[in-house]
Amino acid sequence: MGCRCLQQCCSLPSLFIIFILFFSNFFIIYAQTDPALPSFTPINRDLYHRSDALLEEIKGLVNRHPDKLSMEILNGQNRGYEADLNVVTYCQNRKETDEKSKFRILISFGQHARELITTELALRVISILSEEQFLPKMDQVLLNRTLEKLVIKVIPMENVNGRKLVEDGDLCERRNGRGVDLNRNWSVDWGKKEKDYDPYEENPGTGPFSEPESTLMRKLSGSFEPHMWINMHSGMEALFMPYDHKNTTPDGLPSQRMKLMLKKLNYFHCENRCMVGSGGGSVGYLAHGTTTDYMFDIARVPMAFTFEIYGDITASTKDCFKMFNPVDLPTFNRVINDWSGALFTLFTMGARQMDELQSENLSESKLISIDDYLNGYLMERKSRYGKKIEVLDLGMQEIRTYFRLFLLSSVLLMFMFCSRIRKSNRTLVHALSI
Ligand SMILES: [Zn+2]
Repeated sequence: MGCRCLQQCCSLPSLFIIFILFFSNFFIIYAQTDPALPSFTPINRDLYHRSDALLEEIKGLVNRHPDKLSMEILNGQNRGYEADLNVVTYCQNRKETDEKSKFRILISFGQHARELITTELALRVISILSEEQFLPKMDQVLLNRTLEKLVIKVIPMENVNGRKLVEDGDLCERRNGRGVDLNRNWSVDWGKKEKDYDPYEENPGTGPFSEPESTLMRKLSGSFEPHMWINMHSGMEALFMPYDHKNTTPDGLPSQRMKLMLKKLNYFHCENRCMVGSGGGSVGYLAHGTTTDYMFDIARVPMAFTFEIYGDITASTKDCFKMFNPVDLPTFNRVINDWSGALFTLFTMGARQMDELQSENLSESKLISIDDYLNGYLMERKSRYGKKIEVLDLGMQEIRTYFRLFLLSSVLLMFMFCSRIRKSNRTLVHALSI
């Protein structure tokens, strides 16, 4: 019986159909799950530099303009993984003036590897700072008056190792050279996982600052003490401020000031298309362990932003190059022009605030520094930065976590202790009953 059934069911044509169905399903599943498969649109090499060529161009600009620009390469390693961080500093009359008396801006591009457009924007910003290129519709004299009051540290490509993976064909890679998301590796609310957590995209690392790129960035922010931090990304059009890990913006004057600046930028440079508000409240998901939340909450940078400069929502989710980067020349130019304009407007707004606050200081004859006014946390900042103790970087988040762990272990110990007493009592009762 069994043999006849086998002959009926498994005739040659039906076996062929089953074979086809099985393998077509296999290929569909394989195509849907393998992240290493190439995306549809390749990198447009007419528009985008290779990473080493981009960094070479920047080095050339720095070498041609030593009066304004300088560059250093920081290096870090952790458990056999090594990373370089290129830092370009813009400061007019560097030797004569103290960096600390100026308005300080720290700005990072290319934290996520696949967002190539942001690194092209970095090159444009540095070209404008060198005065080899100019902003359209911007008065150069007025701009120079602003720029002489600023020190700007630019990280043109934060995630160099991840970028190499993208250039080797993994166009959807956003993480660093060993698979950690550098915008989840910071200490504010680190490691918390939402329901929609994607372990491939959002791997936060083995602990806060497990990655050399993040450690180098943290050290840089600690020594530079910026008044303004900007983290440049792509994937959508947005002007974000803290917080990323919760659905609210912070209370107080610094927060109101940030919101106002973003609204102006949205009006003048984004035709009111950009989302404005807290990252966590606007983007559609909460992000834990982000750089901007750390810069605002722990490093006490009074103005902390994340900008998303371009996104193609019509692109397939597998077509990463198209989703995160403009693919034609007119759009490429529009994005670079719009956002370099937006950044220089933001720099001008920051410098103007410094002027206003300094004149208020003079009129009120108060000898309080610009830093203290800007961050709005006079006493806190003094105690934080006065001591220069690395451990303070841990911040309240970590202290809260340790306190919770301490409470939990105390409760567990109490429980174990009580259950032992009960057990010994029971043994006594049992022994007596016999
Ligand atoms: Zn990003």
